[in-house]
Amino acid sequence: MIKKYQLKQVHMGRLPHGSDLIEELTKIVKERDIESGKVTVIGAVTKGTISFYDQKEQEYNEKAFNEELEIVNCIGNISLKDGEPLIHAHISFGDEKGKLIGGHLASGTIVFAGEFIIEEFSGTPFKRGKDEVTGLPLWEE
Ligand code: ZN
Repeated sequence: MIKKYQLKQVHMGRLPHGSDLIEELTKIVKERDIESGKVTVIGAVTKGTISFYDQKEQEYNEKAFNEELEIVNCIGNISLKDGEPLIHAHISFGDEKGKLIGGHLASGTIVFAGEFIIEEFSGTPFKRGKDEVTGLPLWEE
């Protein structure tokens, strides 16, 4: 399942101090009606929250890190779920020793400073629906 897209515009900006990373990015994408694209972020957080998908139980388990962390990398894609733009993003955090932790970006990741680039694509957006094999809301069409 492959679709072809073209780069329409690039949105670049700074995230508010104290904002929730995934919620703020989702707000920006919804306000600008971006339905397909790529998101990248670097910066730092005061708290990081990731999810890990348990493939046997088919459920997400959350883990929060209440500490200052660098956003070494955060990359995500934009598609539609239930008619609304949804960002699926993964994140790597670095601690003061330079050690990395990471996973699926969850709510509860609080921005200290954040710089984002959103590449907006033109083309037919992917839509998410429940995949019976994995239990995940994967791209269907
Ligand atoms: Zn994920």
